[in-house]
Amino acid sequence: MEIACLDLEGVLVPEIWIEFAEKTGIEALRATTRDIPDYDELMQQRLRLLDEHGLTLPQIQEVIATLKPLDGAADFVDWLRERFQVVILSDTFYEFSQPLMRQLGFPTLFCHRLEADDNGRVVNYHLRQKDPKRQSVKAFHSLNYRCIAAGDSYNDTTMLSEADAGILFKAPDNVIAEFPQFPAVHSYADLKAEFRKASLRTV
Ligand SMILES: [Mg+2]
Repeated sequence: MEIACLDLEGVLVPEIWIEFAEKTGIEALRATTRDIPDYDELMQQRLRLLDEHGLTLPQIQEVIATLKPLDGAADFVDWLRERFQVVILSDTFYEFSQPLMRQLGFPTLFCHRLEADDNGRVVNYHLRQKDPKRQSVKAFHSLNYRCIAAGDSYNDTTMLSEADAGILFKAPDNVIAEFPQFPAVHSYADLKAEFRKASLRTV
């Protein structure tokens, strides 16, 4: 029994914060885990910027509702779900991801939660747990599932290491260079081939 664990942003959908930065013109909101590997440091910076610019959760959600999954992502997810149990392990927030998940057919998503006050001001964020992607793979192992994982960035590397097979997808050169133990591919066709290779079954 095998589970496919997928990162969301950069693998199936664009980087939500980057798209949001482009719409609002707030350059500093472009930073992602690719730029600041420490996730808490990155989130504190994002919340501070939202507050400084008086941006509320409904305004953020309006922007996200205009985003589309990456070209070919929905078909890839369909292909994968016929062959594996698919779980998306993401550092996004349920409050953000709904419109994009709808376009992917609502696969299972484990992520985090934002807290907003009555005026829609984002006041805090709540991580489900520490090192959530790795912990999820560990939990699946305890349920006797084999895990094949794919992601694009620093926040995926503990998940890729914990998994029985890890794959870098559309990762930037610095991540590929730092983690040469993982195969690195850039198209869904090649990603399918890596999943086929990593599976113990004929898929
Ligand atoms: Mg990502």
